[in-house]
Amino acid sequence: MSRKMLINGERNGSNEEETCYDFDLFVIGAGSGGVRASRTAAGFGAKVGICELPFHPISSEVVGGVGGTCVIRGCVPKKILVYGASFGGELEDAKNYGWGVNEIVDFNWKKLLHNKTQEIIRLNGLYKRLLLNSGVKMLEGEGKIVSPHEVELTQLDGTKLRYSAKHILIATGSRAQRPPITGQELGITSDEALSLDELPKRAVILGGGYISVEFASIWRGMGVTVDLFFRKELPLRGFDDEMRTVVARNLEGRGIKLHPGTSLSELIKTEDGIRVITDHGDELMADVVLFATGRAPNTKRLNLEAVGVALDGRAVKVDEFSCTNIPSIWAIGDVTNRMNLTPVALMEGTCFSKTVFGGQPSKPDYNNIPCAVFCIPPLSVVGLSEQEAIEQAKGDILVFTSTFNPMKNTISGRQEKTIMKLVVDAETDKVLGASMCGPEAPEIMQVSICVLKTFVS
Ligand code: NDP
Repeated sequence: MSRKMLINGERNGSNEEETCYDFDLFVIGAGSGGVRASRTAAGFGAKVGICELPFHPISSEVVGGVGGTCVIRGCVPKKILVYGASFGGELEDAKNYGWGVNEIVDFNWKKLLHNKTQEIIRLNGLYKRLLLNSGVKMLEGEGKIVSPHEVELTQLDGTKLRYSAKHILIATGSRAQRPPITGQELGITSDEALSLDELPKRAVILGGGYISVEFASIWRGMGVTVDLFFRKELPLRGFDDEMRTVVARNLEGRGIKLHPGTSLSELIKTEDGIRVITDHGDELMADVVLFATGRAPNTKRLNLEAVGVALDGRAVKVDEFSCTNIPSIWAIGDVTNRMNLTPVALMEGTCFSKTVFGGQPSKPDYNNIPCAVFCIPPLSVVGLSEQEAIEQAKGDILVFTSTFNPMKNTISGRQEKTIMKLVVDAETDKVLGASMCGPEAPEIMQVSICVLKTFVS
């Protein structure tokens, strides 16, 4: 049911054929990137349509929801659980400050889960209103590209509709992956971990990235026994080595059992839970096994190969302006597997709209993007790590490190140091990178960057 219409129009005095489309822009996927691109494009006067799957906290090929991963099953619910878990450590710390904390601490997982779900339902509604108020036409269903200017939308009841658009933007994000080990169906991903009916007593986590250390902290803060397995000697490959060491020490200090250089080879269901067998042949029992082993771009059902959109593995290949090899088809966010962070998807969305509808060709700038890992206590970094600076800097570098005992810990007795590091170009005194691991590190880093930007620019 395409409403594509061909009219004869005159442009620049020539008798060119001009095409009239249903939309100037059709966006597939209403996560952080898609919503930002839609709203900014509409702000430039474009007629925008956006499609998204029906809402569900656990994503699949057929459910998703306006707001996407960050809002529904990523940053937002994760941070709510991190806040919830942080009270565990705070209660411990409170004792030496004179607070009588009874032996039995009653933590109600179901209550937190309910409140978390209510919040993401609220945000889902808020995002829908944002789109509506921006004049973006929202459509529920699965989008599939059928030609360089056409999207087929399959609605919940199976009805198929076709829409034409001058530009199509793919913003379908990514989904958590399971490693190919025997019994992998017994494990869960972060989607399910954010919506578990019961809080496990014993959790095993595989992976050494963001999600693994964040969930290890969440569960441990709630009193769960946590065993964390990762392939390298330290978690958080790619971050500053000194910071990685501090994070590992802090995780252990909070009672998480680390298993470096170890992966899992098999999961077996038993009456007592899941028997976990490591690649060293060791065994342990768990109620829940979380795979935090990375995410893959959502491109499978978009029909991209048929339309001729070039892929790089499962990611959509794009140029510096987020355009694919087909000039009318663009892609932003995790589906392009460039830098998989929400603020980056937002930046890519804004640049796309400026380029295509704002008359201001804009390339996303991937330099000095701050990021935060919400383990407890958190880690936040911007710019180069010490190792990257050694490899990339032209001249000498200076490294300033400060490690100290936060005053709060002197009374509480918590053995946990805060560490800050600045990597500086020795000749110009220019800061090349900054890292901090300690309480409120993300906020401190964010404020520092804002202050620097204000006074330096
Ligand atoms: P990451 O890419 O951060 O880490 C994946 C981890 O899984 C690595 O430690 C990797 O090990 C390990 N791994 C991969 N395959 C296997 C395997 N077959 N067996 C054992 N280990 C394996 O992925 P996450 O899942 O933690 O996060 C996904 C994405 O979500 C990230 O790109 C991140 O940007 C984003 N995210 C951001 C957050 C934030 O900003 N705070 C929070 C959560 C997620 P190795 O290092 O050995 O390769």
